[in-house]
Amino acid sequence: MAVSVDLAFGARGAHRIMFAALTGADERAGADAGAMLARLALEEDGAVSGDALRELPVGDRDRALAALYGALYGDDIIADAVCIACAARYEIRFDLAELAASRRPDGSASGEPPAIALGRSKVRLPRWSDITGSPATLLARLTLSGPVPAAEPAARAIEAADPSLELDLAATCPECRAAQMVPFSMTAFIEAALRRDRAFLVREVHLLASTYRWSHAEILSLTRAERQSYARLLIGERETAQPLRRVS
Ligand SMILES: [Zn+2]
Repeated sequence: MAVSVDLAFGARGAHRIMFAALTGADERAGADAGAMLARLALEEDGAVSGDALRELPVGDRDRALAALYGALYGDDIIADAVCIACAARYEIRFDLAELAASRRPDGSASGEPPAIALGRSKVRLPRWSDITGSPATLLARLTLSGPVPAAEPAARAIEAADPSLELDLAATCPECRAAQMVPFSMTAFIEAALRRDRAFLVREVHLLASTYRWSHAEILSLTRAERQSYARLLIGERETAQPLRRVS
C-alpha cells in the first residue's frame, strides 16, 4: 500500500511524496534515511522523487520521514532517557503524528525557492543538501539578497518558518522528578528502527524459506507487512503444534 504525504513546500513544483510499500530488499539495502526516501519515493505526477528529494526543505523532509515511520512502525513512540540527576533509566512516550503536526511552518516563508525576509535580507530555507556542506558558511549560502544576517535570530526565524524534527523534548524523571530536555532526531530515530528490524528480517526470511521453499529473492520482494503476516502465521502454527510433554 502506497503512502502519500503532503508537503508544506515541496520541490520543483511538486508538493507531495508517494512512498512505495517497504520490501525486504529495501530493508536489506541499508538504514540510511536519505537513501531510504530515495528508494521508496515513487515517480508520479506532482510527487517529489529522485534527485529532487535533496532540494526538499529540511522540515518537509523530516515530516515525510515521520509519516513514513508512522506507516511502518506506528505513531506511538517510546524512547529511552537517562536522568541527568540520578542516572535512572526511564521511557518517554509520545505520539509522533501529534509531534509532527505541532511542528508546522508559521507561514513566513514563500516563493521559489521558499525564503523569509530578515531585515533587509532575504534568506532561503535550508535544504537537505545544504546540511552536508560546511555549517560555518551555511547562512552565507542561504542569503539570497542583502547582508548575511546575525546567526541566532536567523536560526530562530528559519526554525519557525520550517520547523525540523531535530528538537529537545521536555521530560521528567519518574524517580527523582528532575526535569530535563532529551534530544530527539527524526533521522536518527528512523535509522535506528530500520537497523533494529534487520535482525528480524534474517529470522523471518529463514522461517519462510525453510517452510515454503521460496527463493531468497522472492521472499525479499514481499512487503514487510506481507512477510510479517506469514511469519506470524508460521510461529502461531508452531506454538499450537507443540507435542504434549510428560510432566513427571
Ligand atoms: Zn532522576
